[in-house]
Amino acid sequence: MDFEDSPAEAAFRAEARKFLEEHAPETPIGSRDPSTDRDDRLERARRWQRTCHEHGWAALMWPKEFGGRGAGPIEAYIWEQELAQFSIGASYFVPGVGMAGPTIIAHGTEAQKQQHLMPMLRGELFWCQLFSEPSAGSDLAALGTRAIRDGDDWLVSGQKVWSSFADKADWGFLLARTDPARSKRDGITYFLLDMKTPGIHVRPIKDSNGGIHFNEVFFDQVRIPDAQRMGEINGGWAVTRTTLMHERMAIGSASSMFSMDDLLRDIRNSGVEPDAIQRQQIAQVYLWNRSLELLNARVMTKLSRGEDPTTEASVMKLALARLVSAGADAGLALDPRGAQTGQGHWAYQYVFAPALHIAGGTDEIQRNIIAERVLGLPREPDPFKETAFEDLPRS
Ligand SMILES: Cc1cc2nc3c(=O)[nH]c(=O)nc-3n(C[C@H](O)[C@H](O)[C@H](O)COP(=O)(O)OP(=O)(O)OC[C@H]3O[C@@H](n4cnc5c(N)ncnc54)[C@H](O)[C@@H]3O)c2cc1C
Repeated sequence: MDFEDSPAEAAFRAEARKFLEEHAPETPIGSRDPSTDRDDRLERARRWQRTCHEHGWAALMWPKEFGGRGAGPIEAYIWEQELAQFSIGASYFVPGVGMAGPTIIAHGTEAQKQQHLMPMLRGELFWCQLFSEPSAGSDLAALGTRAIRDGDDWLVSGQKVWSSFADKADWGFLLARTDPARSKRDGITYFLLDMKTPGIHVRPIKDSNGGIHFNEVFFDQVRIPDAQRMGEINGGWAVTRTTLMHERMAIGSASSMFSMDDLLRDIRNSGVEPDAIQRQQIAQVYLWNRSLELLNARVMTKLSRGEDPTTEASVMKLALARLVSAGADAGLALDPRGAQTGQGHWAYQYVFAPALHIAGGTDEIQRNIIAERVLGLPREPDPFKETAFEDLPRS
């Protein structure tokens, strides 16, 4: 990859920078500091999403016909680089614009594209991911939430957990088991779900830092029209793979998670003189940050050649989790007040960082993917791969 901008890329970068200078919100939206008001943050995230849409920056790589910019991966990368300078950090729209949107574009019907894509981009409708269950996280295909056909509808019963923002979401994308007589992956169907449908009960889970991010979601005979099914009946796993790849890429490249500039600025302003060990720690964070930028560039290059970046997305997700943890350690070490009171950005990052080693597939699962697909090691044995779901042993 050539790291110098071509004249066209430099012009694109200048345009992005100008937009951000003129419109970026002054107060970061992304801080999950529990002392800030969630509804206010959500409202500001909606406004920011709308502003991005009005100026053509809401979805860089979506095709123009669906309201995107139709930009290539290199431009998307430049946009991420510029965005990172402004520490806006609005992650509320990642489940929608970052995950559901690309999946609907790839697998949705015309009616689904017409109904969902524009409201998502304009910040009008806000989405959540309804995949994980108490007994299906890393082994997502073990999910047990059941959908049974009833005329033109499906009736869904079961439970999801760790659903980010579900208590505020307008729509969700849901996996349910439609044929337990088939093997785990073969009996799953993918649905789009209006979160106001009767029978859905959302119970927020309080974080260790006092905030609310996740929810438990219970389904009691929830009626979903067949028109809201995406992909084939029992063919949901292929659709799911598209969502999971976009999730890893969205998390791994997220400019909102860590800013080297913020860390250096806070260290300079702290008045604390880093000792030799802390200086080494900061240098290590700088190197990991740079490595992640270069990995991001590699993914974009692959995408621009039409190649599949699934494995790089796993490496990026691993690298980002490590970077955010190390950055939080370094930031908090130089913020003694934050370390004592638990208040402030670095104290918050310190508590939040472990979540990144789990969300979107744990570190161990990313390592399994890298071991099998990059290093060519033998696949992890799964003696029940072909067993019917209903015959699987349960604890
Ligand atoms: C911040 C955050 C946001 C999230 N948001 C959502 C959301 O919006 N929607 C949603 O559906 N889910 C969400 N999740 C859930 C997330 O996808 C799951 O937590 C994740 O997939 C892990 O599943 P689990 O928690 O059930 O852990 P488990 O799968 O039970 O894993 C427990 C431990 O065992 C290890 N392990 C499991 N299997 C293997 C294996 N084969 N090889 C090696 N080690 C293994 C894991 O690495 C882990 O350390 C979120 C999670 C977090 C932390």
